[in-house]
Amino acid sequence: MIDSHCHLDMPRFDADRSDVLDRAWAAGVTGLVVPGVAPATWSALLEWPARDRRVQVGLGIHPQFLPELDERDDERHLAELDTLLGKGLAIAVGECGLDGPTKEKVPMERQLRVLKAHFALARKHRLPLLMHCLRAHPELLKLLESEPVPDAGLLMHSYSGSADLTKKYVRSGCHFSFAGPVSFEEARRPIEALRSVPLDRLLVETDAPDQAPHPHRGQRSEPAYLPLIVEAMARARGETKGALDAALQANTLRLFPVFAG
Ligand SMILES: [Zn+2]
Repeated sequence: MIDSHCHLDMPRFDADRSDVLDRAWAAGVTGLVVPGVAPATWSALLEWPARDRRVQVGLGIHPQFLPELDERDDERHLAELDTLLGKGLAIAVGECGLDGPTKEKVPMERQLRVLKAHFALARKHRLPLLMHCLRAHPELLKLLESEPVPDAGLLMHSYSGSADLTKKYVRSGCHFSFAGPVSFEEARRPIEALRSVPLDRLLVETDAPDQAPHPHRGQRSEPAYLPLIVEAMARARGETKGALDAALQANTLRLFPVFAG
């Protein structure tokens, strides 16, 4: 069982990071992907897989971090990203994407420019994209007409689009992962999104420290909660845990083959 998206590098884990990891392995988690969100985090992240290869990393610029970065530095940051990806230590490009609410501070034009650069880097380095898309689905779908999904894949993380949107993303070749909200009884949107995704495109994540599943809702999430999310997914989709586990495993290895070896 692999947590395809958790921010274990965040300060909220500074006090007990190794305990958090121990609890994850004890809960049956066999690997996890930590997506980098800003240039300042990249170098430290790259050292992690060498210490413990169960922890793999992505490198990218999250749209919600763009307001903190001077636009004049975008080119330099993207060139640095290219160089670091060239070391072959990261297994994905991202977290990157489009964020509707951030439009107030960072216009969509800049978000799109930075995201397009991530697409180019994913193609160049033959890596999958870890995609954040919050209230910007029309813009992302439009972008996908000119920027095809890289051969190594694209993962829509913490997906919450409608069934209609899902069809479009599926046709583009996207995969989808789901976090804690699918375990909330009244969470109609994420559960409908979850049911709309074909079994062979489905992954799972905790998105720790955010989006903790029931019964930890509102608290800090951590990868040890991953089994709770998988159980909720099986319930919501009416699939057996065994069938879902097998599909999640196959889909995760397709995007992140490093975990197979
Ligand atoms: Zn994230």
